[in-house]
Amino acid sequence: MSVIGIDFGNESCFIAAARAGGIETIANDYSLRATPSCVAFSDRNRILGVAAKNQTVTNMKNTIHGFKRLIGREFKDPHVQDELKFLPFDVSENPNGSIGIKVKYLNEDKVFSPEQITAMLLTKLRETSEIALQCNISDCVLSVPSFFTNAERKALLDAAKVAGLRVLRLFNETTSTALTYGIYKQDLPNPDDAPRNVVFVDLGHSSLQVFACAFHKEKLKIIASAANPYLGGRNIDYKLAKHFCQEFKQKYNIEPESNPRAFLRLLTEVEKLKKQMSANSTKLPFGIECFMNDIDVKGEMARTQMEELCSDYFESVEKTLKECLEKSKLSVADIHSVEIVGGSSRIPAVKGLIEKIFQKPASTTLNQDEAVARGCALQCAMLSPAVRVRDFSVTDLQMYPVVMEWDPSPNEPKDSKNFITVFPELHAAPFSKKMTFYQNKPFAIQLYYEGNIPYPSKFIGKYQINDVKPGPDNASQKVTVKVRVNMDGVVSVISASMVEKLENAAASESETMEVENNEEESQKQEQQPAAADAKEEKTDKPAEGVAEDGDKKAEPKKKVISKTIDLTINATTHGLNPDDLNTQTELEGKMIAEDKLEKERIDARNCLEEYVYDLRNKVGSEEEYANYIDSEQSSTLSTQLDETENWLYEEGADVNKSVYISKLDELKAIGEKIRLRKIDYDDKTKAFENIFCSI
Ligand code: ATP
Ligand code: MG
Repeated sequence: MSVIGIDFGNESCFIAAARAGGIETIANDYSLRATPSCVAFSDRNRILGVAAKNQTVTNMKNTIHGFKRLIGREFKDPHVQDELKFLPFDVSENPNGSIGIKVKYLNEDKVFSPEQITAMLLTKLRETSEIALQCNISDCVLSVPSFFTNAERKALLDAAKVAGLRVLRLFNETTSTALTYGIYKQDLPNPDDAPRNVVFVDLGHSSLQVFACAFHKEKLKIIASAANPYLGGRNIDYKLAKHFCQEFKQKYNIEPESNPRAFLRLLTEVEKLKKQMSANSTKLPFGIECFMNDIDVKGEMARTQMEELCSDYFESVEKTLKECLEKSKLSVADIHSVEIVGGSSRIPAVKGLIEKIFQKPASTTLNQDEAVARGCALQCAMLSPAVRVRDFSVTDLQMYPVVMEWDPSPNEPKDSKNFITVFPELHAAPFSKKMTFYQNKPFAIQLYYEGNIPYPSKFIGKYQINDVKPGPDNASQKVTVKVRVNMDGVVSVISASMVEKLENAAASESETMEVENNEEESQKQEQQPAAADAKEEKTDKPAEGVAEDGDKKAEPKKKVISKTIDLTINATTHGLNPDDLNTQTELEGKMIAEDKLEKERIDARNCLEEYVYDLRNKVGSEEEYANYIDSEQSSTLSTQLDETENWLYEEGADVNKSVYISKLDELKAIGEKIRLRKIDYDDKTKAFENIFCSI
């Protein structure tokens, strides 16, 4: 049994498996550990991962990438509009405002959502793991940028469901890296000592995440987090490509920007140049043959020039680094080390900034590419009974403040604005809070993010609390609502209950005994500190590790005068409704089946081709079967083999699997006869030799 962790990157994905022997990263069908986040379509099948990336330029319109930053968003979202400049394929607005990615698939025009495309990639990653680990995989922990909001998190969870994955946790990329760091460290401080504070910097393809983490033996706590969701390695590529566009316009009078295919090639080439510049400070030559209009283009660049061109990006990196330091309230001297991960953290200027701000060199203890996936696999092992792993307590945080708004209670003015902060910025997560209301009829609550979030709408969800009934004399009843930021970083109202006063209740409030029947669900690894937050008291007493339910084990009293009733909730939130989820899951299943059939067809074709070559080699005049076949039979067979080969390249290039199989059977009927004749003869010779020897 194994469980896996997946780092879903904007450019590439890594999978790590947790098995009895430890954590290992998994190689794909091309023996590579990085699987490009690329999904392509042809008239026959879907092409996923490396094979898709390899044909980006030739099948540009049907090769989809960069979709991680589109999921959970609407077409008109300014961020989406900004993303479109990186995308050479057709993206348009669906009638309901969602994003439609248009492709030609199976000779038809098809529109897929970014979530569906993500599901396709996740299917590929699941299959890759199943092949490598030789077992069925469904449980996984999936990485998610720490700055993702509810909408994006839910969209990712939906995509995983469509791909047949059971996500035990959406794990913040940052926290995953911290777990990978912490779990193998033998020298972390004891619980009562000062923590070891480590800052992690992850600069990837599309974003920058910086976070500070406090480590003790067997536990970690994220203390601060800052991000720039709009800055990654691809921005540098884009800037360099624009620079060369200008240069080539002057030098060669060509406009690569007007030719998407040429621009895509340019992007690929400048990325290579950028990577070379990380290792060389000297001027490097740059060139592309037959770039446009048969012109070979040439240029050059030194690292310092790249740093100048991208100086505003590096300023942004500096700003985010400082922001995290400020939020952490740590002094530079309090910070033990700064660890870097993510492909773009290899850029010397980034390392330089880290050294400047934190006054220590950037440290590379971790595998920069695999740290996120490894942490996810570790977390998955901790959450799953399938694999045993040492426990390590993880306290994450809720990056943005969450506020609640609700309908006024009966004795408040109708237009009174009820508003409370449920989770302040950087609040520990996962976490539940109980909010108490006094209402005498069903009412509504809304949850919002507050402050600057990288998403156009702050809306989290609207929750209609049903079944609230008035007490005697139309009195308000005590209604308790539980708000939770869960293991996935998803915020929602998870339950509501009402303390109903019974008709014969004559006793005062102090004599009330509550019968609790809405036990908090408990999940392994999850600390569930809950805090009472009564509206009228406005108290917020987060009692770490103690659930409020646990405090309420009331002493038995003589009279039961009230009881707690669970209330139903109608929630309006982000994410797919169950019907759409089913439809998409079925469609994905159908596409998986079609791909499988296509693969079997290609395999059958390859089998036939191989057999033709093999048999031809064996029946040649000097070859293995030459003595077991007469010359007439040999020439008939050779002709038949030549014909089959020609057929394979012409009318037989694209036929059903059964046609290849029957052709193969025909040839095998002849080939096998010859082979058996040979075996028979060889056996007899051997027997004869044996007899001869024994005499
Ligand atoms: P994200 O985390 O943004 O979702 P990702 O996880 O796919 O994306 P990574 O694999 O961490 O991103 O990093 C990929 C980026 O790192 C690319 O932009 C790539 O060009 C860049 N990169 C990789 N190696 C180097 C290098 N040696 N020098 C500079 N940049 C590099
Ligand atoms: Mg990444």
